[in-house]
Amino acid sequence: MAEKNRIYLSPPHMGGKEIEYIKDAFGTNWIAPLGPHVEAFELECAQAAGVKAALALTSGTAAAHLSARLTGIGPGDLFFCSSLTFVASVAPIVQIGGIPAFIDSAPDTWNMSPSALERAFRDAEASGRMPKAVVIVNLYGEPCDMDAILPLCGKRGVPVIEDAAESVGSLYRGRPTGAFGKFGFYSFNGNKIITTSGGGMLLSDDEEAIAKARFWSTQARDKAPWYQHSELGYNFRMSNLLAGVGRAQLKLLEDRVARRRAIFERYRQELGGLSGVSFMPESHLARSNRWLTALVVDPAIAGTTNLKIMEALAAENIESRPVWKPMHLQPVFSGARYYGHDGDKSGALFDNGLCLPSGSSLSEEDQALVIRTVLSVFPAGL
Ligand SMILES: *Cc1c(COP(=O)(O)O)cnc(C)c1O
Repeated sequence: MAEKNRIYLSPPHMGGKEIEYIKDAFGTNWIAPLGPHVEAFELECAQAAGVKAALALTSGTAAAHLSARLTGIGPGDLFFCSSLTFVASVAPIVQIGGIPAFIDSAPDTWNMSPSALERAFRDAEASGRMPKAVVIVNLYGEPCDMDAILPLCGKRGVPVIEDAAESVGSLYRGRPTGAFGKFGFYSFNGNKIITTSGGGMLLSDDEEAIAKARFWSTQARDKAPWYQHSELGYNFRMSNLLAGVGRAQLKLLEDRVARRRAIFERYRQELGGLSGVSFMPESHLARSNRWLTALVVDPAIAGTTNLKIMEALAAENIESRPVWKPMHLQPVFSGARYYGHDGDKSGALFDNGLCLPSGSSLSEEDQALVIRTVLSVFPAGL
């Protein structure tokens, strides 16, 4: 149960209409597993993303898993992935036998560095072992440097998987994220910008591939009068109840993006003047959904640290979070290759980074309390 006086990082924000969809599902007894809301939600997401096909799943992680299988990655196959991300970008691919090499962040996006990626490709070419896929991630809603990254992969014929779990509603050159790779996916986990409590969506222009993923996601049943299987699948489909919640949430997406962007702007206005503090950048080609407001604190200049700020917030019952710990620094990936961008940029973002409460339901007063608390940690104030 959510605690009443706690300020959460990114809590679910229902609009009210979600319950109508659930009632409709109850009324027609389309409880589970599939039903009309699932198909409608897929169609609506595909339209919103500007792709030909979409597949509603139990989680973003399930979508990552199926996208990796669709690229044909198997035991011993190399793949490249942004280091600065949540583990779910990588885990399912490693679980099917993929070998990751991690790519550092570029300072202008905090996302995959094109120059580090280029070095990784050159190494791969020299060793005669090319990656089977490149996983790009739109961190905290900020799109990757698509103009630079996509051609590097495209000219080598290496498919891109776009992890848009955090960037639902973000745009790059006016186009929605999730549609830039061969495969893309969204997450509707409880803390994301819109939610089905748990869920994900796989996106692609390749309708045949999505049909294959649909087959796998429902236990890979052959067309036969009995239960017959020529391959093994999964139980990964989203339920009709949750798809109803998703349909109502999707209608609110533009509003939620506007609200999160306004929250980010207020933080930047009130805290951006502090010396040693800098906010996550936004490309002039992009509109980030600003899923989470992220900033870095340079201790040498600020006279304080990200961890001290987090402690002060915790004392006020305010939830905050460090920036993701990069994959190349995770014990489980200690043997993996890493391509830095002029040093270790993602490591530095982790060392000094911080995410502030950013939920679209955050009240003005609560945000003011967060701001006051952050200011109280700075020796000289503003
Ligand atoms: C949330 C998230 C996922 C996983 O999505 P789930 O729906 O929680 O399985 C994958 N990648 C990133 C970057 C995420 O933030």
